[in-house]
Amino acid sequence: AVQVLDERTAPEKLRDISTLILDCDGVLWRGNDIIRNAPEALRAFRCEGKRLLFVTNNSSKSRAEYAARFRGLGLEVAPEEIVSSSYCAAAYLTSIGFGAGNSHQGNNVNKNTNNKKVLLLGWSGVEQELQTAGIPFLGGREFSVPLMDNMEAMKELKVDPDIGAVVVGWDPHFSYSRLVYASICLRELPGCLLVATNTDCADHIGGGRMMPGTGGLVRAVEVAAGMKAVNVAKGGEWLLPYLCRTYGLEPSRTAIIGDRLDTDIFLGRQGGLFTCLPLTGVTTLERLRRLAVSERPDVVIGSVAQLAGLP
Ligand code: PLP
Ligand code: CA
Repeated sequence: AVQVLDERTAPEKLRDISTLILDCDGVLWRGNDIIRNAPEALRAFRCEGKRLLFVTNNSSKSRAEYAARFRGLGLEVAPEEIVSSSYCAAAYLTSIGFGAGNSHQGNNVNKNTNNKKVLLLGWSGVEQELQTAGIPFLGGREFSVPLMDNMEAMKELKVDPDIGAVVVGWDPHFSYSRLVYASICLRELPGCLLVATNTDCADHIGGGRMMPGTGGLVRAVEVAAGMKAVNVAKGGEWLLPYLCRTYGLEPSRTAIIGDRLDTDIFLGRQGGLFTCLPLTGVTTLERLRRLAVSERPDVVIGSVAQLAGLP
């Protein structure tokens, strides 16, 4: 049986925890609906002196756009506390030398990545974060490629030779034409990298319906280009070490609260963090029951509020 902790039994589990990494969708809200007592829970954690970091795999918004969304839902959060996968994409590229005047930072995998542009298959969140980081890009929301439905046109298509990386994020205007452009860059430009903002398969949109996540778009580009993407979000290898060095995390005093096994709980296990799964998101009790005990999160709770002692 899987034990589900409640507001009487859950709070003591966080006694020695100083930093909470909070997943967003499925923990604080679900679609457009705030989880009951989530704002109060965040206030309670802060009163106890815990540091909060909000880490989301959703790349559609920038940190600033997220801060506005949090505010709209009655959650008080500073942009610096938000680590969205749109921000992660820009931070990763900066760490390997992309961006103006950045030739000496990080361990460049490419020569002269500081002069290189990014091709973005993605939305405003990544556009804004690349802009903020000073990384030149083309593509994004307005990316138009001539309709690639004939071989001659594809054969003649010229791609920008200064592209050093293709970033794939949530892109509701993803198309075969964009895929053609991206795969030509990756196949023909020497050293061109493939970066995924995240690889989630599907996300809740309410009413019991799921929408396709960014993972399927990333897979399309991977298959077309014949290479694996670097996943900079929860579920990949890059994010946890980045969080540890940037925020000085002490793994033994850090907890992650998230609703997904392959992203949130995976990240926690990578670094030996304390892992908490609330049943307000995509993972059901049924699913947890079928897992071996060693694969389960450290604690399962009804909701994030219960961790703060609230119903
Ligand atoms: N990506 C997209 C496009 C989403 O809509 C969502 C959730 O709504 C996610 C990723 C997952 O976000 P989170 O990590 O906050 O659960
Ligand atoms: Ca989630």
